[in-house]
Amino acid sequence: MSGDARPGLLSVEAALAQLLALAEQAPILDRETLPLAEAQGRVLAEPLVAGLDLPPWPNSAMDGYALRLADWQGEPLRVSQRILAGQAPEPLEPGSCARIFTGAPLPEGADCVEMQENTEVLADGRVRFLAPLKAGQNVRPRGQEARLGEQVLDAGTRLGPVQLGLCASLGAARLVVRRRPRVAVLSTGDELVEPGQPLGPGQIYNSNRRLLGSWLERLGCTVVDAGILPDDLARTRARLAELGDVDLILSSGGVSVGEADFLGKVLREEGELMLWKLAIKPGKPLTVGHYQSVPVIGLPGNPASTLVTFALLARPYLLRRLGVAKVTPLRFPVPAGFAWNRAGSRREYLRARFELGRAVLYPNQSSGVLRSVSWADGLVEIPEGRTLVEGEPVDFIPLSELLV
Ligand code: AMP
Ligand code: MG
Repeated sequence: MSGDARPGLLSVEAALAQLLALAEQAPILDRETLPLAEAQGRVLAEPLVAGLDLPPWPNSAMDGYALRLADWQGEPLRVSQRILAGQAPEPLEPGSCARIFTGAPLPEGADCVEMQENTEVLADGRVRFLAPLKAGQNVRPRGQEARLGEQVLDAGTRLGPVQLGLCASLGAARLVVRRRPRVAVLSTGDELVEPGQPLGPGQIYNSNRRLLGSWLERLGCTVVDAGILPDDLARTRARLAELGDVDLILSSGGVSVGEADFLGKVLREEGELMLWKLAIKPGKPLTVGHYQSVPVIGLPGNPASTLVTFALLARPYLLRRLGVAKVTPLRFPVPAGFAWNRAGSRREYLRARFELGRAVLYPNQSSGVLRSVSWADGLVEIPEGRTLVEGEPVDFIPLSELLV
């Protein structure tokens, strides 16, 4: 599929492979130790190894009665103890059962729990079991989730609510994580004005600064906000010189080759510049290079292009610099809720919603229309050279995969 890219255009896979190789040459290795409550969004620098069996003892999955099946002939059993979660039980007396509640440790000697709904308490207090029983039923065995010494999370795992909950369940109070990357965000263009300011003739509000800044914060980065860079060589040079110690310079706009490519000019003088023409729509031009020794990625300026190229290229690049192994988003085929008649020379990422089991498109797919992404649940990927009839499968990448 990727072989169909127009000659001279770099396929999305090839661009991603090159960026990931660059990321691996510039890993951000510094680490810090953080309490769990501060580790959200960070990347584990060391594997998480279970320091205990989880659960540490067999316990009941139900409110009911624990018994030893091997010794039981089907007769009603007297209740010899009552075990609540958080209590340490006595060994089970032979010929009896134990009242037990969810999460309470199974008494030694018991091997089965019957839920209370399937029992009847007789007038003399004994319990009759109404349904057939199986050994091990409703018992959560010791170590069913993790064994002492087992590697539960790999180094390079991103920490979200689930991973942090898992760390907590294993008693880990502090985690060793990679430090936050420092990312300078530059918006280029004389036409840009910040929200809150009046718009003059020919001016537009700067959306990419907030888009990228918020996204980078979610990715665990420290944003060094370098504001709006005017289309002017001397001021571009000066602004870059002021940035200080950052791990990445991320710009948007001004990537098109030509008069207005001031960032490119400075990189040529004081670093390295590659101008990639990608077989991607939206978002054909991408700047990749260095300013002095700091990596630079220059995204195209149209907001939907900025978004797509950040999502598919810059985001994986940044995550890989932190040692994250899985950096490409989950995708799955869904039936197209539209027809696609003109085969393109670039791979298209269309903003779509998943409705009634089909991907339907936002009516305006212009690269300037950020609203299309706000409306969408995900991106539909149409490979180069492909046409589609309605109902054919297309790959769908949920935005929820990309925006974290
Ligand atoms: P450029 O790559 O600078 O030629 O910009 C391409 C298009 O994106 C132009 O319409 C710009 O006005 C627009 N654009 C560039 N940067 C931004 C930004 N930060 N926010 C909103 N639109 C932008
Ligand atoms: Mg511009």
